[in-house]
Amino acid sequence: MQDFDRNVAAERRREERRKRARRKNLIILVETFIIFVLTIALILVSIGYFDLKNNTVPSDDTTSDVSGTASSDSTQSGSSDVANSSDAASSGPTDEQLAMMAEVDKWYLKLVNPDKSVSKDFISSVERSTIREKYTSGAESSKYLDKRIIEPFEQMCKAAADDGVTLISVSAYRSYNYQNTLYKNRVERCKREEGLDDEAAKKKAATIVAVPGTSEHHLGLAVDINSVETSFENTAAFRWLQKHAADYGFIMRYAEDKQAITKIIYEPWHYRYVGVEHAKAMGELGMCMEEYIDYLKSGGVKK
Ligand SMILES: [Zn+2]
Repeated sequence: MQDFDRNVAAERRREERRKRARRKNLIILVETFIIFVLTIALILVSIGYFDLKNNTVPSDDTTSDVSGTASSDSTQSGSSDVANSSDAASSGPTDEQLAMMAEVDKWYLKLVNPDKSVSKDFISSVERSTIREKYTSGAESSKYLDKRIIEPFEQMCKAAADDGVTLISVSAYRSYNYQNTLYKNRVERCKREEGLDDEAAKKKAATIVAVPGTSEHHLGLAVDINSVETSFENTAAFRWLQKHAADYGFIMRYAEDKQAITKIIYEPWHYRYVGVEHAKAMGELGMCMEEYIDYLKSGGVKK
């Protein structure tokens, strides 16, 4: 009977030990699970899955992959949205970048080039004013500019005159038909002087005289000064403009080292109004207008 009691007592102790072992196992299991959940949460936060700033979780609408790849998608959007931002936590362009992007749509930065034309209607709708006669060659095509840039142009001419330098417009606003005449004449000249066929002549002419609709002169924001010969670069007027044009909001639009981008020959005589701030910025950055527009659009990223 004593043996029996001992056996029962031993059995109870074993049972207790088994129970304790089961509880211990359960606790370990729960602890492991909690650690696992916390680890996953920590990883998601660190890769930016939760947009803590806006308290939102990104939606999958822009992703082509099935769900479950949110981590890679969110890291992509997190880094590509903010171009050149020093604020790594920001999820979009800064106010400064937005302001830069908005400038692109302003009238004084309207881009016209061989790839970007303006319509006949737009050209005829430009509100023009007449340049004071002493600052023009007297030819009809030298007299008109967009009314908003008459003042800066005349101020520039006056400042140059004060320095003993004469600046006059020899070509300013051009209608579509006038540009068409210039272009056609140039095509004929290329055929005559260089023996080119029609297609080759048109191609060549387009690098010298803009195809109708693609000339900056249509905007009334561009003006040819004093002459349309490359030798203009050897004049005091050219040197004066190199120094001071930006102070009045003008840039030399077709630089020698930017021909591959502008697709227009070097024109030391052709000046374009872009506003003082942008003219100076382009000079400092060493960018032509095409490069500068891209730069603004990207919120200030230099390529
Ligand atoms: Zn011109």
